Amino acid sequence: MNDDPSVIALHADRSVEDGPDIAPPLHLTTTYDHTEQSDLVYARKHHRTRDRLEAVLGALEGGEAACYPSGMAAIAAVLRHFRPRRVTLPGEDLYPGTREFLEAGAAAGEWELGPGGDVVFVETPSNPRCIVTDVAVAAEEAHARGARLVVDATFATPVLLRPLDLGADVVVHSTTKFIAGHSDALGGVAATGDGDVAAALRAARSRDGAVPGVLETWLTLRGVRTLPLRVERQSASATAIAARLSRHPAVTRVWHPSLPGHPGSEAAARQMRAPGGMLSFEMATEADALAVAGRLRLFRRATSLGAVESLVEHRRRADPRVPAGLLRVSVGLESPDALIDDLERALAG
Ligand code: PLP
Repeated sequence: MNDDPSVIALHADRSVEDGPDIAPPLHLTTTYDHTEQSDLVYARKHHRTRDRLEAVLGALEGGEAACYPSGMAAIAAVLRHFRPRRVTLPGEDLYPGTREFLEAGAAAGEWELGPGGDVVFVETPSNPRCIVTDVAVAAEEAHARGARLVVDATFATPVLLRPLDLGADVVVHSTTKFIAGHSDALGGVAATGDGDVAAALRAARSRDGAVPGVLETWLTLRGVRTLPLRVERQSASATAIAARLSRHPAVTRVWHPSLPGHPGSEAAARQMRAPGGMLSFEMATEADALAVAGRLRLFRRATSLGAVESLVEHRRRADPRVPAGLLRVSVGLESPDALIDDLERALAG
């Protein structure tokens, strides 16, 4: 297998023995006939569709993958595997669900939160301001004091960023977003270059039972086939939209890694194949932001991101830490011209 994501997305699962069908079969069975010559015993432990998805996602990341029923389940599994004494969160932005999980763990005495931790957890680009962390530098700093680096690269996807190549110990994604890509399947993945960590994660998953459902796994495998093409288009459209918004007099700030002066734009240029399909912009007031969101026609008002349809979200609703005038935008597959027209009309009032 070469390292072209478009080839990996379509062919990496051919290594899994799963019959001659060109389209992956949907295996609903929970159990397997013991009289057949097979390594398959029970679906919590073995599932060919899951093997196929893990073959594709592992190859895209340059490591081995374990899939989970949600992004949060993947993050929880990784934290519980490392059993850190202290978790460090160097970024200003963080998905509030991750913050809630880590704070709940700290309150329950599972770990502390603070500087100098034995696990460093970085989200890049971050949610919602798309701030980019230099993964190679973060890995070097963590490893210099014996800590592990976990990177949530949900906003980037493995097509645009391969944190394991840059020294991260584990990369996690909510596959609910770009990877599945159609707003119809919750899921998560953790990938690592360390075979022992991958084996331990899979063994714990079989024991704990946090396995993804069959339909979600199948839908995610179907979605990942087109990931490279979708992300290329979404990133190019987001770059065009960010440039246009940054020249608009009513917009006070635009957050996208393509923009000069954006925090981490140099690191983005170094480590990412393209700046990604997520951006945020700020209006002067919350009322202005809500009015613009209310006038948009193509951008549906909803949380979540990375799917074929464009979404806009008044992010303060989900995250009290972000400015009240901030709108988070997930750029879909509509043409960039149609999306820019929609935004300009909504901004004109
Ligand atoms: N990480 C990031 C950056 C996210 O944006 C999200 C969800 O929005 C998650 C993790 C959690 O993923 P899930 O909703 O699949 O559990």
